[in-house]
Amino acid sequence: MAHEPATTADGYTVEVVANVGNPEEAEKALCYGGEGVGLFRTEFIFLDRQTEPSEEEQYAAYRNLLEIMENRPVVVRTLDIGGDKDIPYLDLEKEENPFLGWRAVRMCLDRPEFFKKQLRALWRAGLGHDLRIMFPMIATLDEVHKAKSILMEARDEVIQAGYTVVDKIQVGIMVEVPSVVVLAEQFARYVDFFSIGTNDLTQYTLAAERTNPKVAHLGDACHPSVLRQIKTVIEAGHAAGLWVGVCGELAGDPEAIPVLLGLGLDEFSMAPRAIPHAKAIIRRWTKKQAADLAKQVLTLESAEQVRLAVRNYHI
Ligand code: PEP
Ligand code: MG
Repeated sequence: MAHEPATTADGYTVEVVANVGNPEEAEKALCYGGEGVGLFRTEFIFLDRQTEPSEEEQYAAYRNLLEIMENRPVVVRTLDIGGDKDIPYLDLEKEENPFLGWRAVRMCLDRPEFFKKQLRALWRAGLGHDLRIMFPMIATLDEVHKAKSILMEARDEVIQAGYTVVDKIQVGIMVEVPSVVVLAEQFARYVDFFSIGTNDLTQYTLAAERTNPKVAHLGDACHPSVLRQIKTVIEAGHAAGLWVGVCGELAGDPEAIPVLLGLGLDEFSMAPRAIPHAKAIIRRWTKKQAADLAKQVLTLESAEQVRLAVRNYHI
């Protein structure tokens, strides 16, 4: 039943889509019943090479992925790279705290010509497809305004070069930094969707670096401090008419899925192989039971308690 929709026992349907990093994974997403791509990590185009990819090379890569997905929604994340990676042509200096440093949209906004190459390629590739664009590691409203303005400049340049582009594409942000959660209501005025990156949101909330095994026990995204932030973001998004997704690992976590469902999440984006099981879990619950569970777990005190409560909830 992987290719059937994810509809709860009481008839409420959510979207289940895939996180992909290259065309092979997009093919896999389709095999596993992915209804689209909720996170296309574009880094692979930039890694393992000595020179910067040209606009044409990027265009070909995006076009290829969009063609695989046909008319299904594809959310492309703009480059999310920083000082933890060694990319010779980007001159990224080693930083002491790369996860708090000059990375992702911060670096792209400081290099508008470099950034625009990716955006022009995307505008060109999107024609005839349901392409959506999102910006990673947003922390301030100013970054959203600047990124959107560069996106529109890129559109003008593409039109001037004689290409046809779609009239409008959905533009969203990743919610990975707690400042965005706190001001979600303000951010919602300027975007079409929120996609919550629980991997980073958890590391920034619990101040536990995600690559450091010594603090891994602190980084469970089922922690009520993270779940409460997800609730805030969903409510602020819905109040403004946006759809809200999760594209961090939490979206494919069997114990978290009923909680996210109960919080009113619209889109679950996960590793392709997690899709069939995730859909099966969603079908076992009613929306009402999931909402009851979500309400209950938000009052708990630890991620362990949350997981236990999910396991013990009788549906
Ligand atoms: C996240 O932070 O949750 C996310 C999906 O992005 P990445 O894992 O690529 O940082
Ligand atoms: Mg992230």
